[in-house]
Order: sequence, then C-alpha cells, then structure tokens
Amino acid sequence: MVSISQSTNTRPAAYALRCVLCLSVLAALALLLGYAAGNRFSDTKAASAAPQYPVVIIDAGHGGEDGGASGSNGTLEKDLNLEMAFILRDMLTSNGVSVIMTRTEDVLLYDRSIDYHGRKKQLDLKARLQISDDNPGAVFVSIHMNAFPQKQYSGFQVYYPQGSEESKALADIIQNTVKALLQPDNLRQPKTAGSNIYLLHYNKNTAVMVECGFLSNDAECQRLSEPAYRQQLSLALFCSIMEYISMKNG
Ligand SMILES: [Zn+2]
Repeated sequence: MVSISQSTNTRPAAYALRCVLCLSVLAALALLLGYAAGNRFSDTKAASAAPQYPVVIIDAGHGGEDGGASGSNGTLEKDLNLEMAFILRDMLTSNGVSVIMTRTEDVLLYDRSIDYHGRKKQLDLKARLQISDDNPGAVFVSIHMNAFPQKQYSGFQVYYPQGSEESKALADIIQNTVKALLQPDNLRQPKTAGSNIYLLHYNKNTAVMVECGFLSNDAECQRLSEPAYRQQLSLALFCSIMEYISMKNG
C-alpha cells in the first residue's frame, strides 16, 4: 500500500517553530474571518452577494465496532478521524461553507432494522456513499489514519478516484499544502484509487481520501494524538478546500 518513504533530512528548529507560529496565526484568522463573515452575512442583502460554495461532506472513517487502524499506545483511528472532522467542520462552517457530516458519533452507519450480520462494513460504506449521491455537486472528503506492518513509514497521503480530474485537482492541492505547511520532507504524491477504495471508486462527486499519518509509526502516532497537531492538519485541509473552491469559482 505504501511505496514511498520519506527522506531523513531534518530542518532547523527555527523553521519548524516559524511554521507552527504561522499555522497558529492562520488558524486564529480562519476562525475570526469566519465569525466576521457570519456576522456580515446575517444581513440578508449581504448574504445574497455571498459566493456560492459547494456543500462539503466530511466523512470520518470507521466508527463503532470498527476502530480502524490503531497505535501501539492504544490510539484508535476512528476517534482521531472524528476529532479531525469536527475541527474541519467548524473552520468551514464559520467561513460560510455548508457541511454535512457522515457521522458525528462513534457509530457505523448500517441499518439496524435489516439483517446486517456479516455485512455491517459493506452496509456502512453504502450508507456513506448514499449521502454523497444525495448531494450532487458536493465535495467529499474522507478522513482516515494509515497503518503499515513496517513501522518506519510515515507521512500524509491523499488518494483520489482514477479518471476524476476534479478530484485529482483537489488531491494535488491538499498534498502540496500539507507539504508546504507541515511536512517539507514528505515526498509522497497523490495516489489513484481503484475499486479497492469503494467510497472513491463509486463516488460521483469530487472526492478525496486523506490518510493523515501512520499510527503504526510511534512518533507520528504521538503527533496525531496531540490536539494542536490535529488543528494544524485540519487547517491545511481547510485552506486546500477553500483554494479548490476558489479555483472552481474562477
Ligand atoms: Zn481508515
């Protein structure tokens, strides 16, 4: 699943500190601008002149009895996915973007009223895809954490469905933004997804899956466990989605 490793170059601490400071300022600005925009758009005349944003569907991967990947310290992917989804949701909605969450609780989305035995995961994925199908023109962002048997692998990775130029455009922006803001040594490129990634392969909307990092790598798992780092990653996703929307709006 993973073929590109990161170089071991390290940047001066001052560079890292500068990045973190920039991100903190940007995060505050994103929220402040959002609140200001919210106040401005409460006026109906101003609201009519507001740019038309597509709905963004945020899909927190896994949930309930499906914990997803796990770290050696017991960290579960499903929990981090949801934490990231909430932060991203708040950044987008406070900036005037409508958001649909596929889940806001620790659950899988299969229908409890039918015979789900042996196919909970299949039904869950179908339900998530249905949410995308029900919202044509939306931007679908699925949030996950990675894992691999060899512990040395680390770094953010985006996937997009083969043949979707729109999805590739968003995937490129996200991968480049994370590299620029947080992981200058990350050499990964966005990867195409085949039928093995159901939610991308069958998605009719612009769709990406972000693998935020490897829980199998102890150092990256530790970073992902820190709220401040998840805030920084979410900000990178937020900036990328807004850039993609701006590009689309011409
Ligand atoms: Zn996952």
